[in-house]
Amino acid sequence: MARHPLDPPGEACGVFGIYSPRQRVSPLIYFGLSALQHRGQESAGIATSDGNLLTVHRDMGLVAQVFDEPSLAALDGHVGIGHTRYSTTGATVWENSQPVHRQIGDTSLALAHNGNLTNTAELAEGIDGLRSTSDSHVMAESIARAVEDGRSDARGLENAILEVIPTFEGAFCLVAMDQGRLIAARDSNGFRPLCLGELPDEEGYVVASETAALDLVGARYVREVEPGEVLVIDASGVRSFHPFPKTNPTFCVFEYVYFARPDTRIGGVSVHAARQRMGVRLAREHPAHADLVVPVPESGIPAAQGFSRQSGIPYGDGLVKNRYVGRTFIEPNQLIRDQGIRMKLNPIPENLVGRRVVLVDDSIVRGSTTRKLIRLVRSAGADEVHVRISSPPYRWPCFYGMDTGDRSTLIAANMEIDEIRDHIGADSIGYLSVDGLVESIGNGEGHCTACLTGEYPAPIPEDSDKLLLEKTR
Ligand code: SF4
Repeated sequence: MARHPLDPPGEACGVFGIYSPRQRVSPLIYFGLSALQHRGQESAGIATSDGNLLTVHRDMGLVAQVFDEPSLAALDGHVGIGHTRYSTTGATVWENSQPVHRQIGDTSLALAHNGNLTNTAELAEGIDGLRSTSDSHVMAESIARAVEDGRSDARGLENAILEVIPTFEGAFCLVAMDQGRLIAARDSNGFRPLCLGELPDEEGYVVASETAALDLVGARYVREVEPGEVLVIDASGVRSFHPFPKTNPTFCVFEYVYFARPDTRIGGVSVHAARQRMGVRLAREHPAHADLVVPVPESGIPAAQGFSRQSGIPYGDGLVKNRYVGRTFIEPNQLIRDQGIRMKLNPIPENLVGRRVVLVDDSIVRGSTTRKLIRLVRSAGADEVHVRISSPPYRWPCFYGMDTGDRSTLIAANMEIDEIRDHIGADSIGYLSVDGLVESIGNGEGHCTACLTGEYPAPIPEDSDKLLLEKTR
């Protein structure tokens, strides 16, 4: 599958799990995954079990491309997991789609995860005959071997996961299952979101990356899966375990800035409201003399609304997103490539001509998209373009599940702020401060800001390509 040339930094997968003893769960997983489609569009997969037979269907493409009525009908059973994938490590190939499946004697294991392990190479070294070194395969193989070792143990998969999971380092939200139970786990830093919901009429439980997926299947939000917590869900209900040493939670701030859906709540905080507060704070920190506040759709919209409210400058649409271009199996030819950013965003000249515009976006990673956008807005008639970014300069690579490449590709790692302004062709530029961002989120929890500050809250891989530039310097 071809990546669109103007793709922003990638999200790091969506996971969904359900245990509902009185119904077929595959249609609910399908809808749950549809709500998590924004977290990964490369591949999708579902595993279900009826208590005896575990079945997996996965393929490259969007949820609606991978599944149809016959394929969902073939996924029978009352317990299941699902996954949408965006590769942060590993190639974009079928073999890396999830859920992964292992057969260990009578036990079938399916597993899917969101995030990035930082000690995959180390774990892989300890596993003889490993066929794939993607972190999900390494996790599955580690768990499968622990199931094998404790095969006489009636709690099989449950005990295997509790035994092995403390050896996994980095960022992961995991959903796993055998023929009869659902297991969900979150790393001890809690980098990525995972929440627990309950279906109406005591029909069972759901876990999902975002609350928006609970809403779509009619589940009531119960709580966040805690950092370092493992939940086992089966006929006896929900049981909670804490196999990791206690760690201070460091939740990814970019979930609030960019990744999560605006209709999701994380840790009791509405993502939409947090983004609006970022815009309010941005207007205080970096006011502008302008006629119109224009968002870069869609994740820039709430921050632009906040900026407008605080500054008193009217809010207006200046760009329309072509929502359906997304990822495509069609390789773009030269003609399409020349269309550049217009493939994704088209200006509304009537709203822009002769105006001094504040252009609000959520982040700048490489800078090339922002530069093209500014040209587009100017060519549509804007007199001035003042860029305001509702997150701080992105200077360090993420090792916890966001795909940005090494430091050589990050514009703020290589240029001062005024150089960035000149490079992208803006009349002025202003970024939200780190304090402004954390205070706008406002839930008092610990946060990861490593890509903004270089302070990594959990070990990072020493031999990572992303550090090569640093080492050679
Ligand atoms: S490094 Fe940045 S993107 Fe990665 S988890 Fe931390 S805050 Fe999120």
